[in-house]
Amino acid sequence: MKRERLAETFNKYILSVARNSDRTVQELLNSVLLELKTREPLMVRDGVIFRNGCAFVLCPNCNEMLDREYLLYCNLCGQKLKWPSLRRINYTQL
Ligand SMILES: [Zn+2]
Repeated sequence: MKRERLAETFNKYILSVARNSDRTVQELLNSVLLELKTREPLMVRDGVIFRNGCAFVLCPNCNEMLDREYLLYCNLCGQKLKWPSLRRINYTQL
């Protein structure tokens, strides 16, 4: 699909959604941009280790603990994740 045609389709879509929503066009655009941003993978870099030895890695977007390693997406914010070797993760002792 050509860029101009894609932009026209997107404009029509946003305007039709805005007509049936309490949200403004700007609010809808902001939520779309935020959604697109979470689809670009971010590298997982940090983690925490508790006194009992349990270790968790943190989502690079929302900074919450992930349920397990090598998830494709954060289960809380939906951020797409990219994983280095687990040895490269910087763990903070709590
Ligand atoms: Zn997250």
